[in-house]
Amino acid sequence: MQNLVIIGGGFAGFWSAMSAARQARELGKSGELKIILISKDEYHAIRPRFYESDLASMRVPIKNYLAPLGIDLIVGEVSGVDTQNRRISITNRADEIRYDALILAAGSRLRTKGIPGIELAFNVDTFVDASKLDQHLNKLADARFATLASRSFVVVGGGFTGLEAITSLPQRVRALAPEVTGFRFFLVERAREIAPNYSPDGRRYIVEQLGKAEIQILPGEEVTSIAAGKIVLKSGKSLETDTVIWTTGLEASPLTASFDGERDELGRLCVDSHLRLPACSNVFIAGDVARVLADQHNHALMSCQHAMPQGKFAGHNAVNQMFGEQLLAYSQPRYNTCLDLGPENALLTTGWERNVKMSGVDAKSLKNQIVTQWIYPKEDVESNLKMSTPEVLMQ
Ligand SMILES: Cc1cc2nc3c(=O)[nH]c(=O)nc-3n(C[C@H](O)[C@H](O)[C@H](O)COP(=O)(O)OP(=O)(O)OC[C@H]3O[C@@H](n4cnc5c(N)ncnc54)[C@H](O)[C@@H]3O)c2cc1C
Repeated sequence: MQNLVIIGGGFAGFWSAMSAARQARELGKSGELKIILISKDEYHAIRPRFYESDLASMRVPIKNYLAPLGIDLIVGEVSGVDTQNRRISITNRADEIRYDALILAAGSRLRTKGIPGIELAFNVDTFVDASKLDQHLNKLADARFATLASRSFVVVGGGFTGLEAITSLPQRVRALAPEVTGFRFFLVERAREIAPNYSPDGRRYIVEQLGKAEIQILPGEEVTSIAAGKIVLKSGKSLETDTVIWTTGLEASPLTASFDGERDELGRLCVDSHLRLPACSNVFIAGDVARVLADQHNHALMSCQHAMPQGKFAGHNAVNQMFGEQLLAYSQPRYNTCLDLGPENALLTTGWERNVKMSGVDAKSLKNQIVTQWIYPKEDVESNLKMSTPEVLMQ
């Protein structure tokens, strides 16, 4: 019996597990392979929705999907990987887990070091952090948003997550206290303009919509410190606020440090087109921890759009390699983005230039479909196995 161990139960890890189970069955090798998924908690988290309210539906118990396929779940935090001896250590667990092949899919985390008072900021990076923000907003609402600081919201970072977070806030806080007025919303961005990766028409649309939602953009600004009830910016300006939401600066999981090899500025491990780590041919890397070309020119991003297919390729390739079959080269030439811009508004772009394809309510309806259906596992096992073939890329 060989062990395939997957670290991470997010988009890359979950779909690695589905794909590995499917491919083992396809090769008639299910009886010779033990698949083990190790994750920090029992859930498959739908991280792209953590800026929303109603968090309960944003994580699903992963065991329900793994157990019917005979995949073992170990809940625990991996503290290190010994690639020489093929062993994995888990915090608070005496025994080590042995692997024959490994898929690292431990995702990314927000890098929030170096700002005095950063611990006072909220974020929407994990379920726990998003829950803290939710509780905080409810607490402010209980006090009827009585002070200017409690009615003022600052999102730091004008990238994808920052834009989705700031545009969701006006409706979210007004719903908590419809009788209250005088809310203020700010978006702080270090660059001279927000959404720098968008095409000019995409950027124009985003800026227009922020204006309509009365969100004040503070471009070319940086937060230098955060204190109770206040932030100070590089320009010397300060803002009274009880709510700072930090969205900028992601880095690959610190577990990448257990592996030899080249990495990029985000800490992602460089892999070959089969998602294999050059220094360790029985280690595959997928999702936010992997740096790999999605097409001839563009590297995959830290996104679930790339993490899901990479998981499917990694699971397939790990099993094929274990049983002497050919590996598939990962490729994902199609690239779209669908940016949430509030209750009835979103922006769909196509291509790496991010040209506008659709906007407003139609794009919002697509966004709803993506985040409530496409990125969730299906209820029945066979559908997930079918969806796990590497060829089935997201539309
Ligand atoms: C607010 C927000 C909005 C987003 N919006 C979009 C969007 O619209 N479109 C898009 O494509 N992407 C979006 N993203 C990005 C997307 O969520 C990530 O790129 C995606 O989750 C990466 O998948 P992953 O499987 O690599 O990592 P993750 O989903 O982060 O999963 C990592 C897994 O590894 C586990 N893990 C980590 N460390 C350990 C350890 N030491 N031991 C054991 N287990 C461990 C975690 O518990 C988790 O299960 C958004 C992200 C956020 C935060």
